[in-house]
Amino acid sequence: MADIGFFSQKAIFNLLSELSETKSLLSNIINSMNEFYLLLDRENNIQATNPYTLGLLGYKKYELINYSYDLIFDRENRKKIRESIDSLLEEKKPGIDFEVIVRRKEGKQIPLLLSASKVWDKYTQTESIILVGKDISERKQAEKALQKACDELEVRVEKRTARLVKAKEQLEQEITEHKQAEARLKQTMADLERSNVELEQFAYITSHDLQEPLRMVASYVQLLARRYKGKLDADADDFIAYAVDGATRMQQMINDLLAYSRVGTRGSGSEPADCEAILDRVLAHLRVAIEESGAVVTHDPLPTVMADVSQLTQLFQNLIGNAIKFHDEEPLRVHISAEQKGNEWVFSVCDNGIGIDPEYANRIFVIFERLHGKEYPGTGIGLAICKRIIERHRGRIWMESEPGKGSTFYFTIPRSET
Ligand code: ADP
Repeated sequence: MADIGFFSQKAIFNLLSELSETKSLLSNIINSMNEFYLLLDRENNIQATNPYTLGLLGYKKYELINYSYDLIFDRENRKKIRESIDSLLEEKKPGIDFEVIVRRKEGKQIPLLLSASKVWDKYTQTESIILVGKDISERKQAEKALQKACDELEVRVEKRTARLVKAKEQLEQEITEHKQAEARLKQTMADLERSNVELEQFAYITSHDLQEPLRMVASYVQLLARRYKGKLDADADDFIAYAVDGATRMQQMINDLLAYSRVGTRGSGSEPADCEAILDRVLAHLRVAIEESGAVVTHDPLPTVMADVSQLTQLFQNLIGNAIKFHDEEPLRVHISAEQKGNEWVFSVCDNGIGIDPEYANRIFVIFERLHGKEYPGTGIGLAICKRIIERHRGRIWMESEPGKGSTFYFTIPRSET
């Protein structure tokens, strides 16, 4: 075999065949890779590509080769590519990935993550640019969707936060108003308590102080009646009788007023009050009235409660006294019972007497309010006293009735350890 310069013909042949093998291997790799690939010459004309890129861009090979990359990259993206190549030269580093938009044949834009590099062919003394990249449409879509979701979430969070802030402000406003109302209520209650005490003292002092001059008036008109009855004319007898009657009634009312104001001023503390024992005492007091009316008074087992014993006695006496007083021809029956409900005792005094029109259910508890005339004696203070006693014991009192059939008076006493 003849020698050609330093290399034998065989060596050159081997070299060429190795070169050809390497080239075909390289082109196989390029053709089979699923990556965007372009080889550009110095004037940025496309010199080579691969099937994947053709498919991605929608061009035939002959429509791209030897055409400028202007065909698929707009000005802005061409600038990005050039800048990347320049920075590559300056820093002498491998290409850094950057994002560009490539335009498909029909115009649709595809985002790519691209890296650019320069190759220098020392035999042809030409410079080429290799662009390799990845289609990042999916990633971009995912990013877009994520961003949208984030934006929506942010809007929702903002809306929710705004609602919460508003609700908080409303709540704070309500709390402030509630506190103000509470303070006003406390003030009113304190004022009320003070004026109640003052009123009680006033009622007590006036009724107490009125007793003495009234006693004098009463005894002198009675004296007049005794000494001059029948000695003056008939009118004078009547006038004196009216004066005696008026003075006596006024004395009775003053006494009642005194008894009423004593509920608040003279009450003793709470103690175990055996209601059965109290009832026995009350029935003994009312013995004559019960016998005269022929009333049958019965009762259920009654509890022991914490109360002011003398006031509770007065309460039972007023209610049972009324039950016996306000009756007609019907054989009179009165029944007293007590029932435990929640944390209180509910007492009832039930009669089959004349009954009360429900319209007057509240009025009868007002001081000196009466629904009847002289046919039923009284001053109208009994139920007002009952109400004050029950209020002092932190209970309630009310009445239910059917006119003509009877009435039931209820009152409650809070349950507590006796
Ligand atoms: P008084 O008995 O002195 O009239 P009260 O304050 O005890 O005063 O009662 C007020 C009014 O309520 C009575 O005048 C009467 O009209 C009515 N009343 C009270 N208890 C009964 C009852 N058991 N049945 C019918 N009416 C009643």
